Amino acid sequence: MTKRPALAYFWLLMGISIGLVSLGAIFSQATLQIWLNALWQTCQNGWSNLMSNPPLAWQMVVPITLVIILARTVWSLSRQFRATRRLADLFFPLRSTPPTRVQALLPAHRLTANDIVFLDVKNVHAFCLGFWRPRIWLTAGLVHMLTDEELAAVLAHEVRHIRRRDPLRLLIGRALKFAFFFLPLIKSLAEASELQQEIEADRYAIAHMGSDLPLLCALQKLLKNGHTLVISETAAYTPFNLTEARLKQLVYPPAPPDWSRMFLSGAINIAILAALSSTLYVTSCMQSAAQPLEVGACIADSLQSTSSSLSIPHYDW
Ligand SMILES: [Zn+2]
Repeated sequence: MTKRPALAYFWLLMGISIGLVSLGAIFSQATLQIWLNALWQTCQNGWSNLMSNPPLAWQMVVPITLVIILARTVWSLSRQFRATRRLADLFFPLRSTPPTRVQALLPAHRLTANDIVFLDVKNVHAFCLGFWRPRIWLTAGLVHMLTDEELAAVLAHEVRHIRRRDPLRLLIGRALKFAFFFLPLIKSLAEASELQQEIEADRYAIAHMGSDLPLLCALQKLLKNGHTLVISETAAYTPFNLTEARLKQLVYPPAPPDWSRMFLSGAINIAILAALSSTLYVTSCMQSAAQPLEVGACIADSLQSTSSSLSIPHYDW
């Protein structure tokens, strides 16, 4: 496995997203003021005024993009939040006391019975759920299927998700991916951040157990018995299942980077950012274009008035 700084992708994703939104907000201020003025004039004088003086339509590209980003972020956050709440509300009433073999494993992970939600159902699931107070959810089907060592490895994996508040990071990452739908860079970073959460949790579990065997055996049993179902596509929780990317990181040596794909993705990102930047540049040029004329006219006026009123002293040789 390759060593990367923990949560590097997540913080890079956050940094770039916040930077882009801040830049968009700074450059949108003047244009938004013009639009608000136009809206005010329209309210006062009716639509005829708006039709005769259309307010800088194409300069609205950046502000409109910004509004779409913010609206999609709020929409995605509320959608995921509601789906996660629905999942918790549906299954939390079915919780029961964890079996003694699960309780015996808790102190080694510095967990209490309150950190576990045990569901007495045959389905095989283990996941971390909760944004402010994450808990580990386990089903009787999973506990019966795994040995104590394998169960300890699964608990260690989920403990890492709890300590890092990974469901909250997942929620934010998915919202940003949805908001910046036009920028492949954000999509790649969000997906890399999601995968990194799983890799970090696997690493922690392997280090805790002193071997990768219990974790791999648990994953193999899940795969063999076809228990890789995802309960909800929208809810922000971290299901313990085996994805192809995770298997590659766990079992196979790191693959060389796909340079052609990276180059193509980089070129698309640069093209989109360049298009938005040139819009900003043209907008700022158009906004400042009126000022030099006014300043120039003012200077010309003042020159005329001064030349008429003041007599330039003649240099006598
Ligand atoms: Zn996980």
